[in-house]
Amino acid sequence: MKNQNRLSFWMKRSNRLYDSARWRKSRARHLSEHPLCVLCERQGITKAGDAVDHIVEHNGDYDLFWDESNWQTLCRSCHSGIKRRQEHNGYSQAAGVDGMPIDANHPWNKEQK
Ligand SMILES: [Zn+2]
Repeated sequence: MKNQNRLSFWMKRSNRLYDSARWRKSRARHLSEHPLCVLCERQGITKAGDAVDHIVEHNGDYDLFWDESNWQTLCRSCHSGIKRRQEHNGYSQAAGVDGMPIDANHPWNKEQK
């Protein structure tokens, strides 16, 4: 229920960008070129993704929205689970095969740069 509310709020804000032929086309092309969930892949799991996610929240920013280097393929569970935590903490808690956090915004990765 909570999820639904957040989704509809977010959908309204980004609706004009997502509800375009250009996005549908670009999204389909991205998924065909990058069919695997990048977060699962980094954890050693091969899983087909079905969502094109913006690595940096675009918040309706046109340039960021269409910047393909800001796109990543996610599976449904990564998209809903990891993004939810990311919204909450500002970074993802997901760890890679080496046990280190994947997200560059994670404090561990920031401190080590
Ligand atoms: Zn995944």
